[in-house]
Amino acid sequence: MRVLIIGGGCAGLSTALRLQQLLRAQLKDRRVELTIVEPQPYLTFQPLLAEVAAGSIDPRHVVVPLRTALPDCRVLTARVTRIDHATRTAWVDAAPRGELRLPTEVPYDVLVMAPGSVARTAPVPGLAEHGMGFATVGEAVALRNHVLEQLDLASSTRDPELRHAALTFVFVGAGYAGVGALAELEDMARTATKGYHNLDPDDLRWILVEAKDRILGEETPELAEHTLAELRERNIDVRLSTTLESAADQLVLLSDGSRFAARTLVWTAGIRPAPVLSLTDLPLDGGGRITCLPTLRIAAPDGTPLPDAWAAGDCAAVPDQAGEPCAPNAQHALAQARLLAENLTAELAGRPLAAYRPDHPACSTSLGLHRAVAHTRRGTRLTGRRAWWLHRARQLRRLPTRERRIRVLTDWLFGGLFQREIVSLGTIEHPRAEFESGFESGSTAGPGT
Ligand SMILES: Cc1cc2nc3c(=O)[nH]c(=O)nc-3n(C[C@H](O)[C@H](O)[C@H](O)COP(=O)(O)OP(=O)(O)OC[C@H]3O[C@@H](n4cnc5c(N)ncnc54)[C@H](O)[C@@H]3O)c2cc1C
Repeated sequence: MRVLIIGGGCAGLSTALRLQQLLRAQLKDRRVELTIVEPQPYLTFQPLLAEVAAGSIDPRHVVVPLRTALPDCRVLTARVTRIDHATRTAWVDAAPRGELRLPTEVPYDVLVMAPGSVARTAPVPGLAEHGMGFATVGEAVALRNHVLEQLDLASSTRDPELRHAALTFVFVGAGYAGVGALAELEDMARTATKGYHNLDPDDLRWILVEAKDRILGEETPELAEHTLAELRERNIDVRLSTTLESAADQLVLLSDGSRFAARTLVWTAGIRPAPVLSLTDLPLDGGGRITCLPTLRIAAPDGTPLPDAWAAGDCAAVPDQAGEPCAPNAQHALAQARLLAENLTAELAGRPLAAYRPDHPACSTSLGLHRAVAHTRRGTRLTGRRAWWLHRARQLRRLPTRERRIRVLTDWLFGGLFQREIVSLGTIEHPRAEFESGFESGSTAGPGT
């Protein structure tokens, strides 16, 4: 039996890890074949990206290499371009982006959909040219370098307008990504200003723009209120019910009429289901997510289970106890993946399937070094160090594989012993620049020199 998992993120990798445990004997004697398709050779644990940007965690430690974690699984570093579930066929493309190759057909018997979601962009003037995203390790590292470069620029220029633009940081979208990245970077930049003779933390301007009337839409309203109060207490300018109208020429124009220059614009305004979902014959709901039953089987339009088809994570509209689709977050993705693997195994063995019954959410959000807000399952509200420890313990527990947990824990321990590393390695993003400058006119040496 060939099981094909689409996506090696939180839900895809966790499903594969659990299936590897549950079907060990069948995988060994090749009664079952497990294949996972993921464009990156690793999982990115997005909830820790803000700490990568802040320099608290080594970028390599928030990714889990799929081939190491899944020795009993076939890993295809490729992108699925189409799925025809009626004929149990997927098409995968292993060619790098931009190169045209014919996709390969991959036949399967059982399909597990876990391609997650992607950032939702908008046709705002100037956004494509000046905006940055925040969903990958590359983006987290680039944003860190960019913020530190702005401090260097502001400290070194005599142009007051340039200095002001360099010290203005705008984040659009107050979900996990926007709130986490802004709070961690603000904290890091505040610490970094101590190393500059002419920068003061109050010179920095941090603006969080959110179209809705609340922040952290994926979390409980109580935690969102609590987080908002903390951010505002730190002088972070949070603008609710406000949208970005233009960013042309690095001049930010907001719907509340304000206009200012900013050299940093981070776009984290919402997500949409992975585009591959529209290239399948699987049933989707109004929001474009796959309709699921509480057992994590995909639901046919008549509400019956679609044979041999399962889904979990951000791409799946899985009903909770109240019948509402679960929010797209890592907590649900990981818990659904575990149950999916158990239900799939139960079905193979002819056992009854269990329904997904999410726990009361254990919510928390990190807001920098020693700063967080957290709510316990009993409803106790915590802030500061206690919330921060609780948040870190929760993130560590969720991070897939023990080896990565140890690496992240070690980063945190070293971070506690030494000061936070604050240096911009901006040249990493242009590794050929120095070499290429040698070929600029007049700088090439003659023969034999
Ligand atoms: C910056 C940031 C911070 C976050 N912080 C938190 C937090 O603090 N707490 C929390 O609960 N949640 C958080 N989230 C949300 C959380 O990361 C997601 O809800 C979770 O990762 C969803 O898991 P998933 O497996 O469905 O999707 P993902 O983890 O995104 O995995 C989907 C995978 O599918 C792959 N894929 C996509 N298309 C294809 C294709 N065509 N073919 C093959 N593979 C494909 C992608 O490359 C990706 O690796 C955060 C998200 C971001 C971006």
